[in-house]
Amino acid sequence: MSSDSETSLPAPKIQLTPQEWKARLNPQEYAVLREAGTERAYTGEYTDTETEGVYECRACGAELFRSTEKFHSHCGWPSFFDPAGSDAVILREDNSLGMRRVEVLCANCHSHLGHVFEGEGYPTPTDKRYCINSISLRLKPVEGSTS
Ligand SMILES: [Zn+2]
Repeated sequence: MSSDSETSLPAPKIQLTPQEWKARLNPQEYAVLREAGTERAYTGEYTDTETEGVYECRACGAELFRSTEKFHSHCGWPSFFDPAGSDAVILREDNSLGMRRVEVLCANCHSHLGHVFEGEGYPTPTDKRYCINSISLRLKPVEGSTS
């Protein structure tokens, strides 16, 4: 109840001050995760990754996405058609930059992950594209994965 701007969202389980986040994250990670920045297209380390595993929140380690829901969208960022669990992420309307978009946040720590787009015609089960910054994620490969 202490936050003015996020009263519509449930409180994150992990709440740190900006100073504490800066101690945990490097400047690039902080700019995306905590200030809703966007890494440049085709520069992220997981854009075309097909390694089997789980993608965790780089800020807090919560499981967010899995390689089984990752697909090649050719948009320049890692894309998923569904999160790992329905309560793993929070969606919030984002009207910045003169666009109507839906922001994707980590449900556990409310760090910025990316945006989700719907109905673009991708041949996936949901026709949703969770367009996520690589720098918001950390891949934990499955034990014994060869790629
Ligand atoms: Zn998180």
